Amino acid sequence: MFGRAPKKSDNTKYYEILGVSKSASQDDLKKAYRKAAIKNHPDKGGDPEKFKELAQAYEVLSDPEKRDIYDQYGEDALKEGMGGGGGGHDPFDIFQSFFGGGGSSRGRRQRRGEDVIHPLKVSLEDLYNGTSKKLSLSRNVICSKCKGKGSKSGASMKCGGCQGSGMKVSIRHLGPSMIQQMQHPCNECKGTGETINDKDRCPQCKGDKVVGEKKVLEVIVEKGMQNGQKITFPGEADEAPDTVTGDIVFVLQQKEHLKFKRKGDDLFVEHTLALTEALCGFQFILTHLDNRQLLIKSQPGEVIKPDQFKAINDEGMPMYQRPFMRGKLYIHFTVDFPESLNEDQCKALEAVLPPRPSLQMSEMELDECEETTLHDVNIEEEMRRKQQQSQEAYDEDEEMHGGAQRVQCAQQ
Ligand SMILES: [Zn+2]
Ligand SMILES: [Zn+2]
Repeated sequence: MFGRAPKKSDNTKYYEILGVSKSASQDDLKKAYRKAAIKNHPDKGGDPEKFKELAQAYEVLSDPEKRDIYDQYGEDALKEGMGGGGGGHDPFDIFQSFFGGGGSSRGRRQRRGEDVIHPLKVSLEDLYNGTSKKLSLSRNVICSKCKGKGSKSGASMKCGGCQGSGMKVSIRHLGPSMIQQMQHPCNECKGTGETINDKDRCPQCKGDKVVGEKKVLEVIVEKGMQNGQKITFPGEADEAPDTVTGDIVFVLQQKEHLKFKRKGDDLFVEHTLALTEALCGFQFILTHLDNRQLLIKSQPGEVIKPDQFKAINDEGMPMYQRPFMRGKLYIHFTVDFPESLNEDQCKALEAVLPPRPSLQMSEMELDECEETTLHDVNIEEEMRRKQQQSQEAYDEDEEMHGGAQRVQCAQQ
């Protein structure tokens, strides 16, 4: 871990670092760590690597369960997680829990800081080609001057407002015999349970324990990523004392594309053909998301019907983490019909198109049928209006029904 690779079965290194024998008691370990940690503390000019090694060795050997695993299987077993991870903790925390903070902090659980979630707008081109975006974010980091203590001396006092609990209880009277108790974070200490003497405040963070920092993150948007996909930067959110730093999470939000729609790995594009193109053939150029020009054309003699789909293989979206595989590109055709035709045009068309079906009726029979007129309609508009009318009728009915119920209640 620190330059020299431990042998697979190395289970003596930690004892050597602390300078104790393998049969050392917990007391021996404590004494050895205390002496060496004070001597090697970086604040007193000691070597930070050595300080870290000491903390790691002490953290493992002072825990009977971890020491047992270490003695039996060596350092690698702890790293593989059998003992819940060897040496994952901040050496300053271990030092602090050994020397200060009332002794009870050894078993203190660390809180986990909140994740910070940012939406990240991307174009369909970005998701097709892949891109990287540099984003500047401001975050809180533990004050380097006081190491997150907030004071010059490292000391803090119990908050008088909440007796150190960080919470205050207020009582609200709701009626003559009813009260409501409400718990809320103490405003004097902002829920931390401690205050710092004005004269002892850290000059860098003014007692806040954290300071603002600008940080630039480079977000890599990979080919084929999806709308809503998350890109996580572990432990890059706001730092706070005694807290495991949360993650910064970017959530991709794909902007609407004017031409292409995406469904999974497939792309959809709309194309309108003139009637002559639909019947007699067409070709057109489609500029793809990487600016390649695709020539799209019909087969000789092929007729395209309104609302028909055609597909081009391997011209859809690249697949995430398999960018050489791609979905399909679907083309949805609309056919633009002429509004009307004159007699000559009809004759010309009838000469080449299949004949019209004839009515199997005599002139006399036709005379007996009733004449009708076809009107133009906007069918969507008419359906919407009819639905609205029936909804209003239903609402009126509801109102009357509800009113009757109210009368009944009053009578009881
Ligand atoms: Zn308080
Ligand atoms: Zn500070």
